[in-house]
Amino acid sequence: QTHNVTIMDDQPLDILRSTFGYEQFRPPQDQVIDTLMQGGDALVLMPTGGGKSLCYQIPAMALAGTGIVVSPLIALMQDQVAALRQAGVRAAYLNSTLDWEEVQAVERDLLRGELDLLYVAPERLLNERTLALLERARINLFAIDEAHCVSQWGHDFRPEYIKLSLLAERWPDIPRIALTATADERTRQEIRQRLGLEQARVFISGFDRPNIRYRITQGSGNARRDLLRFIEQTHPDEAGIVYCLSRKRVDEMAQWLCDRGLTALPYHAGLSAQVREAHQRRFLNEEGVIVVATIAFGMGIDKPNVRFVAHLNLPKSIEAYYQETGRAGRDGLPADAWMSYGLQDVITLRQMVDSSEADESHKRVERHKLDAMLGLCEMTTCRRQALLSYFGETESQPCGNCDTCLEPPETWDATVPAQKALSCVHRTGQRFGVNYLVDVLRGKDDARIKQFGHDRLSVFGIGSDLGVNEWKGIFRQMIARGLLTVDLEGHGGLHLNEACRPVLRGETQLMLRKETRPTRIPREPRRT
Ligand code: ADP
Ligand code: ZN
Repeated sequence: QTHNVTIMDDQPLDILRSTFGYEQFRPPQDQVIDTLMQGGDALVLMPTGGGKSLCYQIPAMALAGTGIVVSPLIALMQDQVAALRQAGVRAAYLNSTLDWEEVQAVERDLLRGELDLLYVAPERLLNERTLALLERARINLFAIDEAHCVSQWGHDFRPEYIKLSLLAERWPDIPRIALTATADERTRQEIRQRLGLEQARVFISGFDRPNIRYRITQGSGNARRDLLRFIEQTHPDEAGIVYCLSRKRVDEMAQWLCDRGLTALPYHAGLSAQVREAHQRRFLNEEGVIVVATIAFGMGIDKPNVRFVAHLNLPKSIEAYYQETGRAGRDGLPADAWMSYGLQDVITLRQMVDSSEADESHKRVERHKLDAMLGLCEMTTCRRQALLSYFGETESQPCGNCDTCLEPPETWDATVPAQKALSCVHRTGQRFGVNYLVDVLRGKDDARIKQFGHDRLSVFGIGSDLGVNEWKGIFRQMIARGLLTVDLEGHGGLHLNEACRPVLRGETQLMLRKETRPTRIPREPRRT
């Protein structure tokens, strides 16, 4: 071995090789381990499969004493401990499945310093008996797995997690590491704040899925025909998942694809358990099966050769988009994430958020997430950079493997049409939906317009130079950029936001994406 490093420095790598049989750390595993070994705290954000466990397992083994791992899922805990023991690591767990004698044995091993790792469920850890036990043990670190469970806004909120702040209070000198696969800024802040990790070094990595090609299109107005063309041209006879928002749409879409000679199976919560299971099995075992599904499909599906994931609706957040598209290309071979969305999606999702039962602050978060998703859709620069930066990971170069990199979208100066549209919203009283506004702008001969007297407004007919679809595109982009908001009342009425003022006054130029339609997809050689 080399002479100029201390034995201590070599240890983590030795353990990686001898115990786990891997040659090298995956950055930033080595940096995380260093941080903990030097007594610092860490917050680690990596997607599932990224290699989070070694970040605390190895320092717990390298340092004197025992690493305490807080993990919410008893089944996973047992699997992990079994695998560690198999590899010769002195690991144990404390949870409700153990009988009295087993608990005694674990406690004795802990106090004798004969454990490298002890896994504990959060409620177990928080009980006074366990805390007293830990006070008597020699602890080298605390690892808090699935740390996003501390977030009240997330789906996995667990109240006990909030109480884990007491670890910082009772053991201020013991390094702590929190780990999660959920990495949006808000969750990250909540974890830091609630778990007393303000000083922790943050490590974010591994979110990039370079083999996935992202495409987001506004489509031709006929999403299913666009989808069919996409499948036929780029993925004939290959496995894929098509996500739709409603069960009804899933059923229709699956039938429609079958009618066109594809093998497409519906999957949603309205189908019986047997049917769902049968469809899932066919998807896993047969070649070239497409599953058309609501978001209910995909949890725990680990099929490596899913070649495409298509969205026929806008997902409600970037996290959802990332997670769903992440089911493509697990084998590392080229895969596509394709999405077609339109104005109606924006309106529907906004209304779903506004009319939900959730309290106001919760809605604000949901709206914010939807806005971020829309921002991603309307981008004119690299989508992967935007996606990764949303998760806090910074990619310096445009990726060259997303639609905006491959075919940079043209933009045009839409300031004047935008002013016309905004005036139209204003003059009609900020309560009409997009279709009506477009009719007014284009000067349509229409009974309702006459009834409201809007045919006598100065904005009536000032937009006859543009077509219906062009106007809809302009409205969609303005909504996406937050110049206009879709109203609560459920009719999809639009009102002006503060952000539209500079545009109305002509102080800023509004550059919008030129709509390309129909979506052009480069032909790739058809495989046989
Ligand atoms: P996570 O907890 O982030 O979902 P895991 O810790 O379970 O991920 O690791 C995922 C897989 O990657 C495991 O099979 C693990 O053994 C493997 N792995 C982790 N680190 C390395 C490494 N440095 N080299 C090779 N394989 C690794
Ligand atoms: Zn790109």
